Amino acid sequence: MAERPTLGEILNQLGEDRAGWRGAVTPPIFETSNFAFPTVAAMRAAGRSEYDSAFYTRGNNPTVEVLRKKLAALEGTEDALVFGSGAAAMAAGVLACVRAGDHVVAVQKPYAWTRVLLRDWLPRFGIAVDFVDAREVAAVAAALRPETRLIVLESPNSLTMELQDLAAMAALARPRGIRTLCDNSYSSPLLQRPAEHGIDLVAHSATKYLNGHSDVVAGVLCGPRSMLEEVFRGPYMTFGAIPGPFEAWLMLRGLRTLPLRLERSRASAAQVVDFLAAHPKVSRVHYPGHASDPQRELALRQSAGGSGLLSFELEAADIAAIERFCDTLQHFLLAVSWGGHESLVWPMAVLLKPEQPPVKLGGVPWNLVRLSIGLEEPELLIADLAQALERV
Ligand SMILES: *Cc1c(COP(=O)(O)O)cnc(C)c1O
Repeated sequence: MAERPTLGEILNQLGEDRAGWRGAVTPPIFETSNFAFPTVAAMRAAGRSEYDSAFYTRGNNPTVEVLRKKLAALEGTEDALVFGSGAAAMAAGVLACVRAGDHVVAVQKPYAWTRVLLRDWLPRFGIAVDFVDAREVAAVAAALRPETRLIVLESPNSLTMELQDLAAMAALARPRGIRTLCDNSYSSPLLQRPAEHGIDLVAHSATKYLNGHSDVVAGVLCGPRSMLEEVFRGPYMTFGAIPGPFEAWLMLRGLRTLPLRLERSRASAAQVVDFLAAHPKVSRVHYPGHASDPQRELALRQSAGGSGLLSFELEAADIAAIERFCDTLQHFLLAVSWGGHESLVWPMAVLLKPEQPPVKLGGVPWNLVRLSIGLEEPELLIADLAQALERV
């Protein structure tokens, strides 16, 4: 068996054709919609293997192809497809696996638009969905039916950082012919590779760590070639939610520094978590693998632990106190998304009205605040949090 390439080989060599690119160190942006052939026979051959050939850019493009190879190698899967968003990657992965009459089991608190896809759209096409507390393997086992075809996972999820036991999910699914799809955006392939635990399809919002510069929206679906060919002939080609060659090139640029960015973000996040966990105005932190994480053992068994994203519950009397805290921060931008170079804050309170009595929304506490830790000095971020906590 071929040895797994090193990170350096994947990021700097795999898929690159520098000799063919006249020595260019970075790949050309093949900004072309179509590709010409010298003969009908050559055109026919390319058209018949569109999955691998540069024929039409909705299917394949040489700049995108370099990215596909690197992403598949990072996840340890046979291949990868790149999409115009993480939502498109999730939707394509789900839709390729199900048809009318099928049943899907999903984690109870998935990413918001994954929830909309599963809860609101699949039933319109005759597909039933159950959301279960998948921290409990037994809850997933109990939800399975003879017509279950897919288990949708997100470990950890990106608000409350709940994990699923990936190997146990695969062990439940495989013998029953059920496929598993895991959103791995939180960890990136550097901290967790679900395929190694038996998961079939691995999705990413590449908008987050993979690109990492808050300048591209993109998605990735990794898995065995046979399944990705189904996705390609189905949702990929028919919905056409592809990235342009320029976005793929930006992603290649972002990917080169993934190991350095992630290392810095998670080292700073660990310091921020320790500071918050010890602060009297913080009732709870959510960070995979932290001493306070009830699923710590599982987090450290199937992954390398937390990334740069964390959340915590503020000891706040009301929503106004949460707003004061967030509005007072100087070095965290109030913005959605995460995984970029810049530190961000996102409070659950955004989804609530200031005068509303505090509630849980979709099982998420109203006083939850999420931080994405960027590349700034951790001392700067902690000092900023300390001064804003005074205002709670
Ligand atoms: C952002 C996000 C998505 C959606 O990705 P887009 O690139 O915004 O379409 C999916 N899953 C998780 C966990 C996310 O954070």
